[in-house]
Amino acid sequence: PFFKEYLIDGLREFPVLAAKLNANENPYGPSPMALKALKNSASGGNRYAWKELFELVDKIADFEGVESKNIMMGPGSSDLLEKTAMVLFMNGGNVVSADPAYMSLIRVAEAAGGTWKPVPLKKDWSHDLDAMEQAIDADTKLVYICNPNNPTGTITDSKKLLDFCSRVSEKVPVFVDEAYLWFLEDGAKHSMVSLVNEGKDVIIARTFSKIHGMAGLRVGYAVAQETTLDKLQKITRAGMGISYPSVFAAIGAMDDTDFLESSRTKNAACREYVYQELTKMGIPYVPSATSFMIFPIEMEGKDFLQKMTDQKVGVRAFEFMGKKWCRVSMGTMDEMKLFTAALSKVLA
Ligand code: PLP
Repeated sequence: PFFKEYLIDGLREFPVLAAKLNANENPYGPSPMALKALKNSASGGNRYAWKELFELVDKIADFEGVESKNIMMGPGSSDLLEKTAMVLFMNGGNVVSADPAYMSLIRVAEAAGGTWKPVPLKKDWSHDLDAMEQAIDADTKLVYICNPNNPTGTITDSKKLLDFCSRVSEKVPVFVDEAYLWFLEDGAKHSMVSLVNEGKDVIIARTFSKIHGMAGLRVGYAVAQETTLDKLQKITRAGMGISYPSVFAAIGAMDDTDFLESSRTKNAACREYVYQELTKMGIPYVPSATSFMIFPIEMEGKDFLQKMTDQKVGVRAFEFMGKKWCRVSMGTMDEMKLFTAALSKVLA
C-alpha cells in the first residue's frame, strides 16, 4: 500500500480556522426543516427514540425502495462501516479495496485481525474492477468500494460497478459506501441499492452527514439483506447510538428537497470556481463528482499543511499514486476565496 496521510501535531489546540475545509462537511446544513424538527424535539431527550426510529426507518425504506427489514441505522455511517469490519474480521481474513480509499472500515478490519489487499485505482481514477476481482482469494471476507471515492472525489461507472457487484457478491459480500452519491445530479441512477432487492449480498452505506449537512448530528444507515444485518446486530443495537432529536432532524431533513437541491447547486458552483482558480495557477486538478477535490502539491505534505494552517485554512494532505496531494472540501464561496488566496500565498 502506498497510501499515506500527512498530519500536523496538536489537534486539540487546533487553531481557529477562517475556512474549515478539511472534513468534507456541508457548510449550509442542517436544513431549515431539520433544524425546526431538532428544536421541537429537544425536550424529548429524556426518552429513548425506539418508536420514532421505526418511523425514520420506514421513511428511509420507502425512499430507497426496499423493505424496512433491509435497513439498519447507526450514529453516522462510520459506525456501520466499523461494526461491519469488527464482525467480519474478528477471525482474520482480508478486505479487498482500492488504494487510495476511505480508510475507516479498512483500519478497523486490520485492528480486528484482518489484512488489507489494496488494488491501485486506474489511471483514469476509476476502480480497477478486473484487478479487484482477481485479488479475491479464499481468505477474502469483504470487498469494499467507496463510490464516489474518498479521498479522490472520482467516480466509477455505475453500469460496470453494478455488473461487478452482482457477480462478485455471489462469492463474497460487497460493501459499497455511497456517502457522496447525492452530490451528483442523478445520484439515484448510480446507486447499488437495487441489488438488495435482487437478493444480492451487498451492503450499501449512506449518511446524513454530507448532502444533508448533519455531520455533527450523527445519523447514517446501511441497506442490506436481513440475514447480513442480523449478523451485524448481534454485536450492536445500532439505533441505540442515535439521539432522540437527531432522529427527528433526519425525518425533517428528508422532506427538505429544496435544501438538498440548493446544497448540490452551491457545491457545484464552488467546484467550478476552484477549477478556474487552480487552472489560473497552472495546477492540474482532478475533476470531482463530490463535495471535495484533490490536486497535486509540489511540497512536503506536512509543510504544506502547516503553511495553509498558518493562513487559517484547514485542508488535508496525502501521498498516493506516486505524488503528494491536497484535498480541499467545498465550503461557502467566501471560504473558497479564502482558500485560493491562501494557496497562492503558500505556493508563491
Ligand atoms: N464514508 C465516507 C466515504 C466518508 O468520507 C465519511 C466521512 O467523511 C464517512 C463514510 C463517515 O461519515 P459519517 O460517519 O459522518 O456518516
